[in-house]
This record gives sequence, C-alpha cells and structure tokens, in this order.
Amino acid sequence: MSWDTLIVLRHGETFIKGGNRGFFERLLLNNTKRALAGMDVEVERDQGRFFVHCSEAASPAVLRRLQPVFGFTSLSPARIVDRDIDAMGSAGIEMVERVLEERDVESFCVKTQRSDKTFPLPSPEVGRRVGASIFMRFNLPVKLKGADLVVGVEIGRKQTFLFVERIAGAGGLPVGASGKVMLLLSGGIDSPVAGHLMQKRGCSLSAVYFHAPPHTGERARDKVVQLAERVTTRQGALDLFVVRFTELQERLRNQGPPDLAVILYRRAMMRIASRLAAREHCTALITGDNLGQVASQTLENLRCVEDATDMLVLRPLLAFDKREIIDLAERIGTYETSILPFEDTCSLFVPKHPATRAKLAKVQDAENRIDFASLVEEATASAERIRCGG
Ligand code: ATP
Ligand code: MG
Repeated sequence: MSWDTLIVLRHGETFIKGGNRGFFERLLLNNTKRALAGMDVEVERDQGRFFVHCSEAASPAVLRRLQPVFGFTSLSPARIVDRDIDAMGSAGIEMVERVLEERDVESFCVKTQRSDKTFPLPSPEVGRRVGASIFMRFNLPVKLKGADLVVGVEIGRKQTFLFVERIAGAGGLPVGASGKVMLLLSGGIDSPVAGHLMQKRGCSLSAVYFHAPPHTGERARDKVVQLAERVTTRQGALDLFVVRFTELQERLRNQGPPDLAVILYRRAMMRIASRLAAREHCTALITGDNLGQVASQTLENLRCVEDATDMLVLRPLLAFDKREIIDLAERIGTYETSILPFEDTCSLFVPKHPATRAKLAKVQDAENRIDFASLVEEATASAERIRCGG
C-alpha cells in the first residue's frame, strides 16, 4: 500500500543515552501501535524517529491518537514527494498556501536535511531552490533565524518529504520503561492525576481501591472503575484491585482513638497495598497526597502513614496547588468523573477532630492494642481483580 501522508514522530533525547535505547524504542513502538489499533496505518522505525504512514484524510485522527502517547517530543504531518527538486518546490508552495489561509505569516525559511547522500544537490542548495519557489509565489520574506514559518525538507534513504508543522508531543518516557507501580486510587480528583504523572515518567500502573460497603455504595465503586478505565488509555490494560475494607475500618474506628482514626485507616491501606504490590511485582506505591490540602495531610501525618510500609511511597502531587491538579484532571479527562457526588469515605468514618500533627509513637502504641492483623490478611487475600482496558 502506498500512502500520501507521513507522520514524523520524534522522541526525546533523555533516553537516547545509555544502553537502554533499544528497549525504550521497542516499548514506544508497541505503545504507538496500540494507540493506533484498528486504524489503517503502517508504523516504521527510522534512526531515532518513527514514521506513521497513512492517508491524508486519516491524518487528523492519527495525530489525535498519537499526541497523548508518552515519549514523543514532537509530531509533524508530512507530505511525501518524488525525489525531485521541482516536486519539492511545488509541494512547498501548496503547503505554505494552506498555512497562509489559516494564519498570518511574516517570514519563512527552509530547513533541509539530506540523509540520502546520493541525492545530487547538497542541503543548502535544496533549501535555496525550494525557498526561491515559495518566495516567488508569495513574495514572503526569508528570515533564517526566528522565521514565523519553517518549511522542513527531508531527503531520506526511504522517502523524501516536507512538513510545515511541529506539534508538541506529550513528552515523558514510554509507559512501561520505568516498571510497574501500585496506585492507591480513590474516587477523588487527585489520585488519577497522580497515576497519570507516574505514567508520564514511564511507569505502568496497577491500582487498588478500598471499598467499604454498605458505607460506600456501588456507585462509588463504579466511579473508581471508570477512573481506572480512563487512566488505562495510556497503557492498554490495567489491573484494578478492589479490597473490601469494611470490617477493618469498623474495627479500627471502634477500637482506636478517634483523633487517629484516619491515620490508622491509611496505615492499613498501606499494608494491604504493599502486599498486593509485592505480589504484582510493583516497585512503589503511589498516592494522590498533597501537602496541607486537608488537615490530615501534614508532613507529620504522612510520616505516620508511611511508617506502616517498607515500600517506596511516591506522592507526585505533593507540591501542587489544587488549581494545578484540577487543570490537569480536566486535561486528562478524569475531572468530570471525579466530581460525581459519590463519596469514597463515608462521613461516619471521619472523626470530628482528626489529629493534624500525629506523633508516630502514639500511633504505633494505639495500633498495637488493636487486633487487626488477620483482617489485613483476609482483605488482601479476597481482593477482587478487575481487568480494565486491554
Ligand atoms: P483524592 O482526590 O485522590 O481522593 P484527597 O485529597 O481526597 O485525594 P484523601 O482522601 O486524604 O485525599 O486521600 C489521600 C490519598 O490516599 C488519595 O489520593 C489516594 O491515593 C489514597 N486513598 C484515600 N482513600 C482511598 C481509597 N478508598 N482507596 C484507595 N486509595 C485511597
Ligand atoms: Mg479522597
């Protein structure tokens, strides 16, 4: 099949260094193919870049699917032309004409790359000739540095093409490059965003949700499944573990001091999440904690919670403002679901006066008096696995 349009995908320098390049490129290639599943396209790897061949009509849809794929720095829709200087000139004219229909352009330049050294004209000469054609047609001034419009010409071994756009990619590292982590996913605004940021740095996610029926209803659970589905789009498939938390939460509430209740729940969550993480080969726990956002999320309290696990606990939103988190949630399409009014923690379980600066020794002491170890084991063992996406 021969296609008229090419999407050029450039990936970051970050992983070009080192011996991992082949691994990263393979992952990125798989993620790219997955993002384009079901579309009539061909994906090709070429010297530190990828090419997607498609029809011109499909190109906007292809771009929409590829823009969110982590690992690409920029994307350019390009037009394939014959390996001939006149063909390059007329394609350049047509492409510039389209840009001029859409926006004002004060100046332009042509940047040429010739990796096929058998092409008879050197790069500067190609640039001059294509530039001259465009100049003569539109009388548009040439500006070599800081031009409004850059026409890229590339004479490659496999094909020759031109492009006039560089769309910013999602950046980051290919999902999977940094291994797997366990996200504590509640129904709130923060945790899906935290998961998204870890995906951006190459982590693939598993997730765990602590469900306390009948205090938290089925709709709260459905909401979490929906959020998991949403974050799954970046990685293909994800296992969400739904842990029944009711008995444990009731016991901790009834037998522990009320002001430490939330910390005791969170410690129990850490223990269960750590066990699931180890079983699922996850190397860290991820939460949506944000410093000082609610009274319980003080450094002292975070310390008391973290003490319950040996695992690495990462909180990518710790230093974000609420506004920044909401903006991101809107961008990744989780906000609307997150604000649905089905609470993840029943008011019954939140004490009136939670400790804001809990002392670790006191927390440990209170916990030691509660017999809950078997409930942790049971909750872990009975976790329900829901396969999202895939
Ligand atoms: P979120 O919007 O993510 O719920 P929040 O600001 O409401 O965050 P908390 O409810 O205090 O904060 O929870 C802090 C973090 O603890 C959450 O971001 C999440 O990672 C984890 N967490 C809390 N409740 C649950 C739950 N029921 N299941 C899984 N994780 C939870
Ligand atoms: Mg919450």
